[in-house]
Amino acid sequence: MKIYHCPTCGSDKIKKVRGAVSREFEGEFYTVPDVTYYACPECGERVYDGDAVDKMQAVSPAFRRVLNAR
Ligand SMILES: [Zn+2]
Repeated sequence: MKIYHCPTCGSDKIKKVRGAVSREFEGEFYTVPDVTYYACPECGERVYDGDAVDKMQAVSPAFRRVLNAR
């Protein structure tokens, strides 16, 4: 997946970065290590591709809850 323009503000300054991402779900914070995503310096928008979403779901409290419900 390649993104050339920010979907939120239309800036072409958006660029691919890689690193740990901190997220929050229902007040619970968790960190996803080594994720590749696009970050826009203009508006702060972040765009995650499919692989990044898979990684985030794997460590997300929401996903854990789904597993426990089985
Ligand atoms: Zn933007």
